[in-house]
Amino acid sequence: CGIVGAVSLRNIVPVLVQGLQRLEYRGYDSCGVAVHTASLGVASGGGLQRARSTARVAELLEQVQRVPVQGATGIAHTRWATHGAPVQSNAHPHFSYGPKVDASSNPDAVGRVALVHNGIIENHEPLRAALQAQGYIFASQTDTEVIAHLIDSLYTGDLLTAVQAAIAQLHGAFAIAVLHHDEPHRVVAARAGSPLVLGVCQDGQEHFVASDAMALAGVTDQIIYLQEGDVVDLQLGRYCITSREGLLLTQEQRPVRTVH
Ligand code: GLU
Repeated sequence: CGIVGAVSLRNIVPVLVQGLQRLEYRGYDSCGVAVHTASLGVASGGGLQRARSTARVAELLEQVQRVPVQGATGIAHTRWATHGAPVQSNAHPHFSYGPKVDASSNPDAVGRVALVHNGIIENHEPLRAALQAQGYIFASQTDTEVIAHLIDSLYTGDLLTAVQAAIAQLHGAFAIAVLHHDEPHRVVAARAGSPLVLGVCQDGQEHFVASDAMALAGVTDQIIYLQEGDVVDLQLGRYCITSREGLLLTQEQRPVRTVH
């Protein structure tokens, strides 16, 4: 089980999938990747796109090449199921299409939020009931899907604010990484009880998150180890890290380390 995410200017899908391959040793039962297609500078009409597999990461790689799935902003995941069988509909990334949209019967439904998660959300049942009461239609049996809809329900134009508000309602262990339809060049990630690192490219505009620095080998050796409760906001050429309390953390508080 692992997470990789990136904000960049090139098609980052091969790097994300390679990162998953470097995390395969942890074990997993399914895997997936989501991108924002507008991030590559393609003409208007871009949005969130995903591919998921219950086979090996190598099969996911074939899928993304075949379809193709391409984007400069993306998130990827290997799943070790805790809630819901290891079937494709439970594989991450999970999408929220907003309330009252049933994507299973509407092929034109537009994904608003894409999310990957490692860990367990203990209060997923009351959260699911509250979100269903707001009209959200669930497509999986996972605890994770509640986070995607919760972020959608709290979104008012700024993904960082929505993620901070959502995680304040979560009980349990998590590392998450999130994309939003309206912000093509942004990934927001957070950790509480599951590991997550930030990979910084000193000379470029790319930044990464991953469960483990090893996932970023060959991409960057400049690593910031996130701490409990940290939320990281990745955008092109810049990143910021805030504490659980929402305070901006300095480079002294979260130093960049060179890993070998
Ligand atoms: N609890 C989540 C699920 O079952 C995430 C599992 C994981 O850590 O991969 O989908």
